[in-house]
Amino acid sequence: MKSHAKAVVIGGGVVGCSVLYHLAKAGWNDIMLIERSELTSGSSWHAAGGFHTLNGDPNVAKLQAYTVQLYKEIEEISGQSCSLHLTGGVMMADTPERMDFLRLAHAKGRYLGMDTELITPSEAKAMFPLMDETNFVGAMWDPVEGHLDPSGTTHAYAKAARKLGAEIVLRNRVVELTQEVDGTWNVVTEQGTVKAEHVVNCGGLWAREIGRMVGVELPVLAMEHMYLLTEPMPEVEEFNKSTGREMIGVLDFKGEIYTRQERNGILLGTYEKACKPWSPVSTPWDFGHELLQPDIDRIAPSLEIGFKHFPGIEKAGIKQIINGPFTFALDGNPLVGPVQGLTNFWCACAVMAGFSQGGGVGLALSNWMVHGDPGFDVWGMDVARFGEWATLRYTNAKVRENYSRRFSIRFPNEELPAARPAQTTPLYDTMLANNAVMGDSWGLETPLWFAPKGSEPKEVVSFHRSNDFRPIGEEVRATRERVGVTEIANFAKYEVSGPGAEDFLNRLMTNRMPKTGRIVLTPMLNEFGRLIGDFTIAKAGPRGGEDRFMIWGSSAAQKYHMRWFEKHLPKDGPRASEVRIHRFDQTLVGLSIAGPKSRDLLQKLVDVDISTKAFRFMDFREMAVGGAPCMVNRITYTGDLGYEIWMAPAYQRLVYKAIKEAGEEFGLVDFGMRALLSMRLEKNFPTWFRELRPIYGPFEGSMDRFIKLEKNDFIGREAAAKEQAEGPKLRRVSFIVDAADADVMGDEPIWAKVGGKDYGTVEKPHGYGAPRFDAGGKEVRGSNAAEGASAVRGIVDGDWRVVGWVTSGGYAHYVEKSMAQGYVPAALAENESAGLFEIEILGHRRPARINVEPPFDPSGEKMRT
Ligand SMILES: Cc1cc2nc3c(=O)[nH]c(=O)nc-3n(C[C@H](O)[C@H](O)[C@H](O)COP(=O)(O)OP(=O)(O)OC[C@H]3O[C@@H](n4cnc5c(N)ncnc54)[C@H](O)[C@@H]3O)c2cc1C
Repeated sequence: MKSHAKAVVIGGGVVGCSVLYHLAKAGWNDIMLIERSELTSGSSWHAAGGFHTLNGDPNVAKLQAYTVQLYKEIEEISGQSCSLHLTGGVMMADTPERMDFLRLAHAKGRYLGMDTELITPSEAKAMFPLMDETNFVGAMWDPVEGHLDPSGTTHAYAKAARKLGAEIVLRNRVVELTQEVDGTWNVVTEQGTVKAEHVVNCGGLWAREIGRMVGVELPVLAMEHMYLLTEPMPEVEEFNKSTGREMIGVLDFKGEIYTRQERNGILLGTYEKACKPWSPVSTPWDFGHELLQPDIDRIAPSLEIGFKHFPGIEKAGIKQIINGPFTFALDGNPLVGPVQGLTNFWCACAVMAGFSQGGGVGLALSNWMVHGDPGFDVWGMDVARFGEWATLRYTNAKVRENYSRRFSIRFPNEELPAARPAQTTPLYDTMLANNAVMGDSWGLETPLWFAPKGSEPKEVVSFHRSNDFRPIGEEVRATRERVGVTEIANFAKYEVSGPGAEDFLNRLMTNRMPKTGRIVLTPMLNEFGRLIGDFTIAKAGPRGGEDRFMIWGSSAAQKYHMRWFEKHLPKDGPRASEVRIHRFDQTLVGLSIAGPKSRDLLQKLVDVDISTKAFRFMDFREMAVGGAPCMVNRITYTGDLGYEIWMAPAYQRLVYKAIKEAGEEFGLVDFGMRALLSMRLEKNFPTWFRELRPIYGPFEGSMDRFIKLEKNDFIGREAAAKEQAEGPKLRRVSFIVDAADADVMGDEPIWAKVGGKDYGTVEKPHGYGAPRFDAGGKEVRGSNAAEGASAVRGIVDGDWRVVGWVTSGGYAHYVEKSMAQGYVPAALAENESAGLFEIEILGHRRPARINVEPPFDPSGEKMRT
C-alpha cells in the first residue's frame, strides 16, 4: 500500500466505487479506495438492484437519470456486465389524491425531458398481469426503470476505476483520521498510515462511525428492509413466452410496495409502517456479509394489501425473505459534499438508492473535489442542508417517519410530526395559545397561520385550497389595512466584523456594501456567475473601532453559506485575523411588524424619532423597543411599511407583549409565515431555493438592480458581465393565473401559444458548466445527461409549447389573485398579452398572464412613506 495519495475514498460499496471511478475519470490518478473487507461488504451486496429516475426533487431526479445512462459506459470500460434489465415501470394510484400526485409528477417530468405517461389500470395490467386492476384508479408509466446486478455493478465501477489508474486496497480497515496543521489527513489503517490531501467518507453502514473519527455526528441511520422472492411462477413464464418481454416494475402507493420480476418469479419489497432501525447508536465493525432475521409479522399488513392488489403473487410459494440494513438521511436523499467546519473532508453517504443515485453522486462529488464546485444544483443532497439540531435521536425519529412514508404522498401544505417540537422560541407557548398552526422551519417551530378562535388549529392537507385559505386572507387584509405582527426567528443571521469585513463582503457580494446605519439587498454568486445566496446586509455602528455588518439570509442555507464564507476567509498572513464571522442561529430572534399603522405602533415603544425622515426606508438602527435592546431594520418582506426587530431570546416575550399592548388601538393582528409569503407574491419578490438557485444567473433571476459590475472585482463578476453583455436567455417573471380551487405549488410546466415562432431556449438548466471529462480524460462540455440538457424537449400541442416552469406561487390574498413565479425565455418575459400563456395545475392547463409590475403598490410608495 502506498503511503501518500491525493485522495483516499473510504468504503468499497457502490457509492465509494462510483466516487473513485469519477475521480479517476476527471484526471486524478493518485487516488485510492480503502475497504475494510471485500467490495460490497455493507448494504450493496444484498440490494434488490432496482433503479428509477423519479424523485421528489427534480435535480436529484436528473442525477438519477445520469446514473442509469452511465451503466453502459462502465460496462464498456470494465468489461464487467451490470446485468441491466431496462423493463420500465408503473406507479399505481388507488385514490383520486394519489392520481393528483401522479399528474403532478407527470407534469414536472415534462420539463425534465422525461417520457412518463399517464395510463389506465387496464393498460398497467397488460404489462403486469398479476395485478387486480379494479383496486386502482390510474397509473403512470416510466420507461426508465429496471433492475441490475448490485454486485456486478459495484465491481464494474471498481474495475473501470482501476483501468483509469486508481488503486483499491481490500481487507484494511481505516481506524483513525487525524489532520496536520497544514491540512494533510493521516488516514490510519490496519496496514499503516496514508497521508492524503482529501478524504471521502463512503462508509455506508459505517458512515456515522467515520464521521465520529473527525468529530462530526452525521444525520444518518440504517433501517432494516425486507423483500421476498417467490418460487418460479408459471404465470410469469407464460407472460415472458407470449410477449417476448419481461414483466415491468410496479410501485403500489397504498401498500408501500414495490414488485418486479426476478428470474422466473417475483420480487416484492415493502417499506412497512412498523419499521425498525438497525444498530441505532453504532454499527458493529464485525458485521459483514450476513443477513438479518426476517420478521414477517412486521410486513404482514403491507403483504395483505399486496396480495389483495396482486392476487397472482399470493398463490406463489415464498422461496426466501431477505432482510438487510441500509442507510437513510432524514429526508431520504443522500448526504454529499464538503463538511462545513472541516477542510478537504468529503461525504457521499446515506445513499438509500445506490443503484439509482450512485452515479450522480459520484459525478457531483468528483466535480466538487476536482473543480471546487459540483457543477449542478445539488442542494437536495447537500450534506449542509441539515443543522446541528439533527442529532442522533432526532435523526432516528425522522428517518423512521420518512421510511414508513417512503411512497406516501406529501401534500404541499403538509407538516410532518416526528421529532417535533425540537427548537422553540420563547413565544412558542404564546403562539399555541393564540391558536397558531405551527410548521417546522429548519428544525424551529414557526407559526404558519392562526386558526379562528374556538376552532381546532389543525391543517386539512390537500393539493387544493384548504382550511387555511380564509384565515390567511384575514391575516393579510388586516395587515395590509392596519398592522400585523409575526415571528421571524427562522431567518439566518450572521455578524461579520473586523477591519477586513467590508473588503471581504465586497469580494463575496454583488452589491455595494451599505454606509453605517443603512441596509442593502444583495445576491451572492459563485465563480460561474450563478446565484448562491441572497442577503439583507446592514452596517452597524463600529464596535471597538471595528466595522460590523449584520447579515440576514435563508435559514435552511446556514451551513451552506457558512461553508462558503469560511472557504473565502483570508487564510494566512497578516490579514488572517481581519475578518470574524459569527452565526447567531437561535441566539438572535425576531419579530416583524408591517402595515400602514406599523410606524405609529413602533413609535409608542421607542424613545427616538422614527418619522419618515428620521428613520428612512432601508435604515438600520440599534434602539430599545419596549425597553429591550434591539436592532431594527426599516424593511419588511411584506413589501409594505414595516420593520424587522431583532433581539436576544431573553427579550422576545417582553417585546411581543409591548407590541400587542401598543397595537390594540390600531387593530393589530398576528400573522404567520403563509400570510407573509402570500404578501411577497403580490410584490413579485423572489424566495431563496425557489426562484433563486445556483442554476440561474443574476440577470435571469431578474436581480439586475442588485448587480454592480463596476464596483469592484467580486466572485462571479466576469461571468455576470458576460451574461449581461450577451443578454440572459431566461427571465424570472410573475404571472396572474386563472386558477380554480388549486394554486400552483412549484415545478408546473408553463405553456405558451408560440405557433411556429422560436423564442430561444426552453431548457431548464440543471448543471452550469463545470468541466467534465470523458473516459479518456478529455474535457467534454454539454453532452452529459446531468448537464443543461434537462430540457423541455419537444412538448408541443398544436400552436402551444411548454416554454418554462413555475418556481413557486399561491394565492395573493390582498389583490385576490392566484399568482405564480417562474422562468420563461427572455424574449417572452415582457409580453403581458392575454391568451399567450397557460400554466398546468394538477393536469389542467389554466390561462395565465405575465404581470411585469407587482399588483400591490407597484411604485413602492407605501414601503417608502
Ligand atoms: C434489502 C435491501 C434492498 C435494497 N434494494 C435496493 C434497490 O432495489 N435499489 C437501490 O438502488 N438500492 C437498494 N438498496 C440500497 C443499496 O443497497 C444502498 O443504497 C447502497 O448499497 C449504498 O451503498 P454504499 O456504498 O453507500 O454503502 P455500503 O454498501 O454499506 O458500503 C460501505 C462500504 O464501506 C466499507 N467501510 C465502512 N467503514 C470502513 C472503514 N472504516 N474502513 C474501510 N472500509 C470501510 C464497508 O465495509 C462497505 O463495504 C437496498 C438495500 C437493502 C438492504
